Amino acid sequence: MARPFALDPLFRALTALPGIGPRNVKLLEKLVGGPKILDLLWHKPIDLVDRRFTPKIAEAPDGRVSTLSVQIHKHFPNERKGQPYKIWCTDETGTINLVFFHAHRAYLEKLFPIGETRIVSGRVEHYQGKLQMTHPDAVGTLEERAQIEILEPIYPLTQGVSGKILHKAALTALKTLPALEEWIDPHYKTRNRWPDWKEAVETLHSPPDETTLDPLHPARARLAYDELLAGQLTLALVRNRQKRQSGRSFPVKGALRNRLLAALPFALTGAQERALAEIDADMAANSRMLRLLQGDVGSGKTVVAALSMLSAVENGAQAALMAPTEILARQHAESLKPWLEAAGIRFAVLTGRDKGKSRETLLHQIGNGAIQIAIGTHALFQEDVAFADLGLAVIDEQHRFGVHQRLELSSKGKGTDVLVMTATPIPRTLTLTAYGDMDVSRLDEKPPGRKPVDTRLIPAEKLDAMIEGLKRQIETGARIYWVCPLVEESDILDLAAAEERYDHLKQIFGDRVGLVHGRMKPADKDEVMEKFAGGALDILVATTVIEVGVNVPQATIMVIENAQRFGLSQLHQLRGRVGRGAEQSYCFLVYSGLLNETAKERLSVMRQTEDGFLIAEKDLELRGAGDILGVKQSGALNFRLAELPAHNELLAAARDDARLIIEKDPELKTPRGEAVRTLLYLFERDQAIQYLRSG
Ligand code: ADP
Ligand code: MG
Repeated sequence: MARPFALDPLFRALTALPGIGPRNVKLLEKLVGGPKILDLLWHKPIDLVDRRFTPKIAEAPDGRVSTLSVQIHKHFPNERKGQPYKIWCTDETGTINLVFFHAHRAYLEKLFPIGETRIVSGRVEHYQGKLQMTHPDAVGTLEERAQIEILEPIYPLTQGVSGKILHKAALTALKTLPALEEWIDPHYKTRNRWPDWKEAVETLHSPPDETTLDPLHPARARLAYDELLAGQLTLALVRNRQKRQSGRSFPVKGALRNRLLAALPFALTGAQERALAEIDADMAANSRMLRLLQGDVGSGKTVVAALSMLSAVENGAQAALMAPTEILARQHAESLKPWLEAAGIRFAVLTGRDKGKSRETLLHQIGNGAIQIAIGTHALFQEDVAFADLGLAVIDEQHRFGVHQRLELSSKGKGTDVLVMTATPIPRTLTLTAYGDMDVSRLDEKPPGRKPVDTRLIPAEKLDAMIEGLKRQIETGARIYWVCPLVEESDILDLAAAEERYDHLKQIFGDRVGLVHGRMKPADKDEVMEKFAGGALDILVATTVIEVGVNVPQATIMVIENAQRFGLSQLHQLRGRVGRGAEQSYCFLVYSGLLNETAKERLSVMRQTEDGFLIAEKDLELRGAGDILGVKQSGALNFRLAELPAHNELLAAARDDARLIIEKDPELKTPRGEAVRTLLYLFERDQAIQYLRSG
């Protein structure tokens, strides 16, 4: 089945609408987030102007938006540049001047013919004892009255696209709205008093009253639910498909595990024990494991992964651990080495750097099973890498991957179990959205004995004094990360700021300062990072590219400039780079300018806690969903209609509903299933529909 014909009008190009042509379509596409009419319909008004107030001239109050019906009497063109052009109008109660600056005479004469009646809407001002309306927002003939006297939606705009054009285009688009079969459960819909889809879209752009701006208004809530449901259905379909492919059973036998445990210089935390028990149960079961292991940097995910990999090996299969970067892969190998050796495991590292003969040898050993555990980058999952029998794939810190990539990664083996590790603590509600297809284990307890990072707020004016302090710290062997301002939407500006700071610090500290940024070649970046890790550099200046997870235990100081611009979760991630050794660590949050209340509250949260989950919840509360670190790019949280946290409850309901729908009607063949397919097409989840077919 292809996309239902009923949806065609919604998928036409924006240029099919009046007022939208080749000149402004690009701007509009960018503004509304897509090239089709549906994108425009999903562009939500942010405010309303009430043009339904229609007083007589004499009753029009100062400063209020009024819609007047006036007779045109006389034009007073401006005599000199800079003077306003005035048009004298009346009704039976009084007179008012329409005022225009930079006026085009011919245009105004045509728009306001003398002797005729016109409807004008705008803010009325009492000026030097007279009434005037400067640049009416809307003008029309008596016949057009009904289109003017409305609650007019105000849209987020961009230079080059006017609200008028947008509104007119939206109204035209509404005329071709199809009525769609209902996909929402009828009881749930009635209980919420939700309108049909069509009516909900109409309400958005042709609002009957002020309450429609509220995210919890039935029309907005319904549309949000549609979007959330489409997302959750996609995840449920992915999950269903994964689970249907029969898994393997890897019961824990214990011999290898005990050897590794005996080699550990510490006991597992309660959280590690719990997570491991959950993983053990999944791996022992016949279905496929799809589990997310969430835990702050330093919460001890690696050892949990290692113990899980042993379960696969113990049952005669192989395991793979994939990290997002070369450095991280090597660091993993480094820290796993003593443990795996103690357990007598044959393991190897494979990254993009392995070429030629050595690579061939590695591939051969992976292929014949001589290597039991492979650690590497995405190079592990390239086409020419064939495992003898991959039982478990562990994927570290991969918030940058989407659902589909997860599918690809696990397709290297038959029924391969998948464990995803992330150091981005995500609030529970968002976990649903981003990882709704996975089961979740949380490491919410840190290994004992960590010193809290001493976190301080430093106003930018005190930077020099702080640098004096750093000099003393460096003399005693401290190593410093220095993160430069994040300027939204411009990595060029980011870079300029970082380079400037780098030059500045070099003047003070000499050669022992390094710079890394996102525009460097990976190999160059790695080289600088390695120098810092090895102690050849004392200060590492960086844009935000400090790779998640890079471990330099000797680094004890984190300086973050313009800290007020970062999200809490980002600050938390950055701070997590220090406090990994035995020494006392510091985090200096340097801020510039005056902070507003929210900014103050956010930065003080950082001083109060190091609990990533708590910080993530706060971040969500204070900033909304889209900004939580990293997940934005993955697309998982780019909502058009839903707003978190306002729609948190809907999200949970959508998840339950999606799972239920797929459970009862896995092929979406019932009438409701058909409607659900339409929903998926509406939100361009075509890929999810493919899973139905090929599964
Ligand atoms: P993550 O990968 O979650 O960032 P790691 O697995 O790298 O964290 O663990 C951080 C450090 O803590 C490592 O040096 C590790 O050996 C140590 N560690 C892990 N678990 C424990 C524990 N239960 N008790 C003490 N130290 C631990
Ligand atoms: Mg780690």
